[in-house]
Amino acid sequence: MKTILAVLLAALPLAVSAAQADLLIRHANVIDVEHARLLPDQAVATSGDRIVAVGTDADIAKSWTAKKSVDGQGRYLIPGLWDMHVHFGGGPDLADENKALLPVYIANGITTVRDCAGDMAYDVLEWRQEIADGTLFGPTLFTSGPKIEGIKPVWRGTLETGSEADVDRAIAELLRVKADFVKITDSTLKPELFLYAVRQARANGLRASGHIPMPITVRQAIDAGLSSIEHLDYAHKAGVKDEAEIAADFAAGRIDRAQANARLDADFDPATAMEAYRTMAAKGVVVTPTLNVSRILAYLDRDDHSKDEYLAYIGPGLRKTYDWRIQRAAKATPEQVIQRHAAYEHIAAVLPMLEQAGVTIMAGTDAGFLNAFDYPGFGLHDELALYVEKGLTPAQALASATRAGPAWFGLLDRYGSIEAGKQADLVLLDRNPLVEIGATKSIRAVILRGALQDRTMLDGLLADARAKVAKWNTGTP
Ligand SMILES: [Zn+2]
Repeated sequence: MKTILAVLLAALPLAVSAAQADLLIRHANVIDVEHARLLPDQAVATSGDRIVAVGTDADIAKSWTAKKSVDGQGRYLIPGLWDMHVHFGGGPDLADENKALLPVYIANGITTVRDCAGDMAYDVLEWRQEIADGTLFGPTLFTSGPKIEGIKPVWRGTLETGSEADVDRAIAELLRVKADFVKITDSTLKPELFLYAVRQARANGLRASGHIPMPITVRQAIDAGLSSIEHLDYAHKAGVKDEAEIAADFAAGRIDRAQANARLDADFDPATAMEAYRTMAAKGVVVTPTLNVSRILAYLDRDDHSKDEYLAYIGPGLRKTYDWRIQRAAKATPEQVIQRHAAYEHIAAVLPMLEQAGVTIMAGTDAGFLNAFDYPGFGLHDELALYVEKGLTPAQALASATRAGPAWFGLLDRYGSIEAGKQADLVLLDRNPLVEIGATKSIRAVILRGALQDRTMLDGLLADARAKVAKWNTGTP
C-alpha cells in the first residue's frame, strides 16, 4: 500500500506538491534597480538567508508555501541598503554606545555597512564575526580594520608607518585580521608612503581607499591603484586645472593648506574634470561622496541641531565626540563661513558630472563618531536625497545604495538585486523610490538574512536603542 502511494505521489505533477519556503512576500512591486524598472504583482520566496524564487504572484503561489507571509500589495520591494562609509569609534569606553547603533541601521533598512576605520578596530573585527555567526544582531559588516597612517597622527588606533618596512608590517597585520579592504588617511603619512601603501595593498589582493594627501594628485593615487575615493572633495580636486602645480607648491612649502584649498576651490575646470572622471570610470575607481556630513558641517553656523529628534539615538560619549567639529566651526570668521558654504556647493556640483562620465557613485554617510549630527542609519536617507537634489535620478541614487557596494566588493552575484539565489536582504517600502527617493524612509518591513522584521519589530528596535541612550544620559551604566 505504502509503495503504491509513493508511486502515485511521484507521478503527480510538480505544481501540486508546493515547495516549502520560510517566507513569502506576496503581490509586491519588485524594484529592479539595475534597469530602473518596476515589476508589478510579484511574489518572493525565501529560505534560510537566500531568495529561492521570484515571479508573478500567481506562479509563485502555485509552487510555494511558507510558514510566514507578508502582504506586499501596493508596496515596493528593494534590495537591502548599504552604507559604504560609516565609522565605529570614540574610544574604548564607547564600545557599547557604538554597538547600540547596529539595530538602528537595521531599522533604517540598512542591511550592510562598510566600516572605514576608527579607534576600536579590534572590537569591530569581533562584531563582524559575531554578526556573521548570528550571535550579534546587526547589518553585515565589512571593515578595514585599523587604518594606515603616518607616525603620531591625529587619528587614534591606527597602524603608524614611517617607512616602507612599516607599511609592509601594516599590510601583513591587515591580512592577518582578514581586513575587507585597506583604509589610508594622511594626517601625518608621507605622500610617497601613501602611494606605496596603495600599491602594496593591491599587490596583496586588497582594495584600497582613503584620503589623498595634498602633495600628490588624484591621478597619482589612481595610478597607484586606489579603488575608491572617499569624500567628494577629492573628486572635485581631480577637476582642478593646475592641481599638479598646487600639489607641488604645497609639497615645497610655498603655500599652506588653506591657500591650497582656496586655489583648488577657485581653479576648478569642467573640461579638466570630465576628462579626469572618464579616466576614473575607465579604471573602475568609484567615489563615495559622503555629502550629508559635508552639508551638515558646512552649515553648522546656520542650522540648530540641539533639538534634532535623532540625538535620542546617540549615546552621551558619542555625543561628546561631536564637540570637536562644533567648536572648530564656531571659531570660523564670517568670511570663512561664506567660503565654507561656497566650497560645499562647488564640491556638490561635481556629483552629476561624475554620473555623466560613468563613475560609480557609492552611497556613504561618514556617520558614526566625530561627525556631528550625521546620524547613523537615518543619515543614509538624507545622503540619497542630496544626490537627487544635486542632479541624480532617484534610480541612480537607489543604485548607489544597493548595487555600488556589492559591485565594489565583487559581490554582485550575491547582492544588489531581487533574484533567486541572492541574499534575502530586502526592504519593503510603502512608497515608490523610483518616483521619489524619500520613499526609502517609508519602511514597512526589513528582511535581514531571511529573517522578517515587521514594522512593530523595527519600532521595537528603535525604542530599545532610545531607552539605552536615555539610561546612559542619566549616568547609569
Ligand atoms: Zn570617514
